[in-house]
Amino acid sequence: MKSKNLFLRAQKTLVGGVNSPVRSFKSVGGVPLFIERGKGCRLTDADGDVYVDYCLSWGPLILGHCHPQVTAAAYAQIKKGSSYGAPTRLEVDLAEAITEAIPSMEKIRFTSSGTEAVMSALRLARAFTGRAKVLKFAGGYHGHVDSLLVSAGSGAASFGTPDSAGVPAHWAQDTLVLPYNDAQALDGLFAGQGQAIACAIVEPVAANMGVVLPEPGFLESLRRLTRQCGALLIFDEVITGFRVRYGGYQDALGIRPDLTCLGKVIGGGFPVGAFGGKREIMDLLAPLGPVYQAGTLSGNPAAMAAGLETLKILKKTDPYRRLAEKTQILARGISAAALKKGAAVQVSSAGSFFTAFFSERPVCDFDGARACDAARYAKFFHALLKNGVYFPPAQLEAAFVSTAHGARDLDLTLKAVETAIGLSNK
Ligand SMILES: *Cc1c(COP(=O)(O)O)cnc(C)c1O
Repeated sequence: MKSKNLFLRAQKTLVGGVNSPVRSFKSVGGVPLFIERGKGCRLTDADGDVYVDYCLSWGPLILGHCHPQVTAAAYAQIKKGSSYGAPTRLEVDLAEAITEAIPSMEKIRFTSSGTEAVMSALRLARAFTGRAKVLKFAGGYHGHVDSLLVSAGSGAASFGTPDSAGVPAHWAQDTLVLPYNDAQALDGLFAGQGQAIACAIVEPVAANMGVVLPEPGFLESLRRLTRQCGALLIFDEVITGFRVRYGGYQDALGIRPDLTCLGKVIGGGFPVGAFGGKREIMDLLAPLGPVYQAGTLSGNPAAMAAGLETLKILKKTDPYRRLAEKTQILARGISAAALKKGAAVQVSSAGSFFTAFFSERPVCDFDGARACDAARYAKFFHALLKNGVYFPPAQLEAAFVSTAHGARDLDLTLKAVETAIGLSNK
């Protein structure tokens, strides 16, 4: 009742009652939960109901809610000041930790969001190459950057309006879009327009059309073709960075992009983004170079402190194998429940994130993702919610696992999953 009343109130002053569209439950229907608190892997809503959380603020909370050390680090900083608009040691410490973990990022700049990081990386790539065109992939989401809201994933996909109103056609005309995982289409495009392309931007594991893994050779082709044509390769690792391993997914692939965008995990649950790469490219940024980029709260000390503590814990405890095991337990459990209940579900996962696609066929691109049965996902989602499990409120999103999820939480989840998959079939 309380969430419902809050949602009614919220809709009068906040557009759609929310500050980010996917939170509205629009694609699954019903009333979004208003959250009172989080602890470990659990969320408590305004009505006092408790859920095992697999949304985890859409990815950042790899250590769960309110990890004591992360909270203490942020709190200690806030007591000393929330923002100065002047440099701090924390920014240097976090930049050193990241550049050490991701060698292709020789220099970094922090922002307050992933969107800003991507927007700035594009500007930089265009300045460095003196070219205008940007290649992205259908279903790839890179924040709400105007020119990239073309065939975009995440909320833009769930709402069936991949091309946002308010983006003039001529802003998007330099955006080239190809299907994800289509290496042949890459060859054709680069043969024709390679010399006009400033950069290609790609999620090394697509996570915003649901989780779609790169097919062997696809990203390698992209690296080879961009290099041959003098275009930059930008890896958008806002989700994958420090999620699958300590560092970037690029090192698991053995591919060195020219620029990398980060966010989510590196802020420990606070607003953050970062972009970085080759020194000679980064040095084009103001104050050294002619590319302007700035931010009042960029490198915010509380976010830096939380991010730094998060990375320290990840480095020291190396939880990635265990996280992947837990994810596999869930993935196998969901597949087994689907088999038992005669439901067509394809589970796709990487490291500590996964998607249960309500689809007859494995999903390898945006067309496959969009062919999924969103109505059945909605039933599945609501049945899970009734049984105390909070999945992302849209089919084409990733679910996340944290170090705080324990064996009992997984058991509870899989019991709920079996019930929910049964109901999704009705
Ligand atoms: C979340 C996300 C972004 C945008 O980050 P914000 O902090 O929401 O602006 C960009 N790219 C990818 C791959 C993301 O998942």
